[in-house]
Amino acid sequence: MGKLDGKVAIITGGARGMGAAHARRFVEEGASVVIADVLTDLGAKLADDLGERAMFAELDVRDRERWTDIVTQTVQRFGRLDVLVNNAGIFRRESIETHSHEMWDEVIGVNLTGIWNGTKAVIPALKAAGGGSIINVSSTAGMTGYAWLPAYTTSKWGIRGLTKTSALDLGQYGIRVNSVHPGFVRTPMTEELGDNTANVALHRTAADTELTPLVLFLASDDSAFSTGAEFIADGGESAGLP
Ligand code: NAD
Repeated sequence: MGKLDGKVAIITGGARGMGAAHARRFVEEGASVVIADVLTDLGAKLADDLGERAMFAELDVRDRERWTDIVTQTVQRFGRLDVLVNNAGIFRRESIETHSHEMWDEVIGVNLTGIWNGTKAVIPALKAAGGGSIINVSSTAGMTGYAWLPAYTTSKWGIRGLTKTSALDLGQYGIRVNSVHPGFVRTPMTEELGDNTANVALHRTAADTELTPLVLFLASDDSAFSTGAEFIADGGESAGLP
């Protein structure tokens, strides 16, 4: 028996990195998965590899109309929707002086408004399913300030607020909403950053699969009493924060 038998999930940013790791594991655990991403080639190939219980949907999370279409397509293809993993994210590393307005709009649009769009779009389907789980991917950058990441850090703090408000509003329908806070994970996003682990208690970075058990827990009924909460997996990077 899988931990997600019979459940249906949409994973944004599911074509590569941590999102792809979640998609693979979710299918292994019995779920049907919609991989929603702007990367059409990678996403379609992954869905192909995963077989009948996977589908690729081209989605820019900023596109509200497309969100509505994808939820409809998901329910048409798999019969219901239980889980949304709001994982898509982008990173623009610039000092606040050189970080452009365009970069700000782009990062806030994808990382924060994208989660708002997804949350709004799935509410009717999750209500129809009798409840569900929304997992919002924040970061340790949502728990402390980071230099050179003004929009990214702001978006990841914003996700915490949106998560808590969503949890309070949607609990009455059995819809749970939690945030996850990865530390330094080796994915295409962090390729250019080197490997500075001086502030990480475990003195290492994580593989792209290491957040999946936490996301799986939050998607499954094992976390049935958790909502509005923050789940950290960062090798102890935030352990020294006041
Ligand atoms: P990644 O770059 O490998 O994956 C991000 C995915 O999001 C990609 O598939 C990308 O195509 C997709 N995406 C980007 N813009 C999109 C859009 N507008 N619409 C739909 N999809 C879009 O990076 P990752 O490290 O796997 O990141 C996954 C999440 O984890 C992100 O939210 C990121 O901010 C967060 N995170 C990453 C780290 C880390 O160290 N890698 C740490 C903390 C949080």
